[in-house]
Amino acid sequence: MLIAMGEKKKKIIKTIKIDVSKCNGCRACEMICSAFHATPKYSSNSPERARIRVATDPMRDLYFPVYAGEYTAAECMGRDRYIVDGTEYDECGLCRAVCPSRTVFHEPDSGLPLKCDMCEDDPPREKPLCVEWCINEALIYAEREEEVEEAVTPEDVEIGLESMIDKYGWDKVVDTVSRLSVARLSATKKK
Ligand code: SF4
Ligand code: SF4
Repeated sequence: MLIAMGEKKKKIIKTIKIDVSKCNGCRACEMICSAFHATPKYSSNSPERARIRVATDPMRDLYFPVYAGEYTAAECMGRDRYIVDGTEYDECGLCRAVCPSRTVFHEPDSGLPLKCDMCEDDPPREKPLCVEWCINEALIYAEREEEVEEAVTPEDVEIGLESMIDKYGWDKVVDTVSRLSVARLSATKKK
């Protein structure tokens, strides 16, 4: 892949800070995320389609919201452990990667990866919906400005498509895109 480095530019990095101590496992974040990304928007909700999931340990009253990060074509070699309040947790349960070794963050019908898009909308939202709906303030929206060197790379969409084709095969990707196109077209006509 050709990458040409260019001049430095300022870029806004959007993140969600997570205060695990404030989360009570209500799962409102999962519900609103899946509803916002349903087709048509808000027509259904299903945690399996959410781009944020809450890993739970109810016996210890611990809840860990994790929002979906990057797609990875292969599982990683690391199996680190987190120790929280003296209890060890498997890293996989708290990891943000959309990884082939887990079902979480894969669209249940197609198996395609789900990634948090910070609730991209038109016009843009002030805050992501999961942050707005978390009345316990366990999710805190934060922006930071970073200076990044402009890299000339293939479009993100192209990279994503290549990854999906590698993982799921050409036919499945084409089937899914066709199905989503039909659903979106019919949603647009109803507007
Ligand atoms: S909405 Fe907030 S409190 Fe409820 S599960 Fe999500 S992060 Fe936790
Ligand atoms: S920011 Fe939006 S897309 Fe990302 S997890 Fe929250 S509700 Fe879902």
